[in-house]
Amino acid sequence: MDPTAPRRRWGWGVAGETPDADAVAERKAYLEDALGFPELSVADPVPLAEATVPEPGLAVPDRLAAFCSADRAARARHTYGMAPPESIRGFHGDFAPAPDLVATPRTEDEVAETLAWATEAGVAVSPVTGGTGVAGGTGPPQGDLRERYAGTLALNLRELDQVLEVDETSRAARIQGGALGPELNAQLREHDLHLRHYPQSYQLSGLGGWIATRSGGHYATRYTHIDEFVQSVRMIAPAGAFETQRLPEHGAGPDARRLVCGSEGALGVITEAWMQVEPRPAYRSAAAVYFDGVEPAADAIRAIVQAKLTPANCRLHDRVETSMYGLQDLDRELVVLGFESADRPTDPELERALELAAEHGGECPDGPDHFGPGYGRDRPADSDVTRWGQAFQMGEAAGAEVALGVVSGTVETAVTWDKFPEFNEAMVSALEDAAAEVCGMGHVSTRFTHVYPDGPAPYYTFMAPGAEDPEERIEQWSTIKQAGLDTVMEFDLTPTHHHAVGRDHRDWYAQQIPENYDEVLRAVKAVLDPAGVMAPGVLVDPPE
Ligand SMILES: Cc1cc2nc3c(=O)[nH]c(=O)nc-3n(C[C@H](O)[C@H](O)[C@H](O)COP(=O)(O)OP(=O)(O)OC[C@H]3O[C@@H](n4cnc5c(N)ncnc54)[C@H](O)[C@@H]3O)c2cc1C
Repeated sequence: MDPTAPRRRWGWGVAGETPDADAVAERKAYLEDALGFPELSVADPVPLAEATVPEPGLAVPDRLAAFCSADRAARARHTYGMAPPESIRGFHGDFAPAPDLVATPRTEDEVAETLAWATEAGVAVSPVTGGTGVAGGTGPPQGDLRERYAGTLALNLRELDQVLEVDETSRAARIQGGALGPELNAQLREHDLHLRHYPQSYQLSGLGGWIATRSGGHYATRYTHIDEFVQSVRMIAPAGAFETQRLPEHGAGPDARRLVCGSEGALGVITEAWMQVEPRPAYRSAAAVYFDGVEPAADAIRAIVQAKLTPANCRLHDRVETSMYGLQDLDRELVVLGFESADRPTDPELERALELAAEHGGECPDGPDHFGPGYGRDRPADSDVTRWGQAFQMGEAAGAEVALGVVSGTVETAVTWDKFPEFNEAMVSALEDAAAEVCGMGHVSTRFTHVYPDGPAPYYTFMAPGAEDPEERIEQWSTIKQAGLDTVMEFDLTPTHHHAVGRDHRDWYAQQIPENYDEVLRAVKAVLDPAGVMAPGVLVDPPE
């Protein structure tokens, strides 16, 4: 996928608005034949000429004219992130909340200039890097909140896409916030270095967005969130630049760097960061291990992480998910284990992990895939690990589901091991019951995306046949999602492990945070963004 190719206006994808016909046919067959969905019809996306995109309420200001536009197509493309309701509305041509203006600053000074103008003019600013956010935080504010502003502007960071400096001795690089995953690693590769953070959205998301949302990458243990790689960060706020010191670590008070990680555009625009980088792994060992049931698989994973083994990959997929990935063994749970190192063979760690898995009933019928030196090149083409790796690359499946009118969504959280079995049962029932109530039926799959010695980050995907009417389908999605989030709260957990708070998780985030914390965040926002123009309604409310 070419990250620089023109983006789809709705949901995941480049190169055209219509999802690939083969992918739609494949998805349709899977949903009908394997999951028992009633016959699904295929809709076409509404072309831009027929879409609802209100006229801009603002003229391009002279002082931003060199990098700002009110172009209809650009405004439509900056209306939404990729949360399911956003993809559905975009597919059906509803761009009612489109920003009035889209600014694409080429320098940090132009970012500052945009924020200064927006503050004076009372215009809401929505920073965007890749536009792949799934928590309803990427686009402009809507409804009553929008009425409080003179207009809305999307601030796209994509022109700031450079690796500015590399410190090979300390293995760190200064990278601009607008660089997408493939772009920044292509530049780092010239130094034989990489930023080893690969979220599933890697191709189309970027550094500023990752830091702003505290994204979770491919490392299942230890370096799970982008925060782990941030050495220092620079953010332009309406009140001025906010830059943290470049140090390996320090213990001086609450960490200012951590204030920026997860700030979701509500405090300012992340323009660059010094990131820890490393050589590409030279050794890799991986295996697909099968279990009868989620619980024994979870017990095995707990044993592995509590033994302080730190697999790069340690993903649990229940049997619904293994069928989605097209793996051969459809009736058992799958754990994909992978170790990687730039320095030494990882086979001994995999062997120990397989011993621990076997103690919990884990079977590895194909034996481990040992790739050894020459990372990835000798990967067997027909192994389940390889098939899993290919399926993990985002294809057209998500877009196909929108075209097929499917209600699909996710709920993710973090839970300590002691609560996991009871929580898992409650969550799967809550989602299945809600889907049955509003859609007549539904399927729920369970996976672990990341794991810690004290608990996993479970991730649930629901899929159900949806109503033909897009707004009714969004209502169905919302009921199922809420049932999941309410269950999260019954167990006193978090509404997000790595998808951020955005606007969609605000109500549940408010229940999670300590008393007074919202006040603390609002106080910080009042200092950095006194007029409250940054990402209104995301993470924290702007001042009245
Ligand atoms: C198919 C798919 C798979 C995904 N897989 C993963 C995954 O594996 N792991 C994961 O963590 N997430 C995943 N996501 C969610 C999403 O990709 C992440 O939240 C990602 O970090 C968003 O990055 P972005 O550059 O696209 O951000 P955007 O969508 O552009 O923005 C997200 C939020 O950050 C703010 N923001 C963006 N750029 C800046 C900036 N420079 N300064 C300040 N604020 C900014 C925005 O205002 C918004 O609130 C997935 C999404 C999709 C659609």
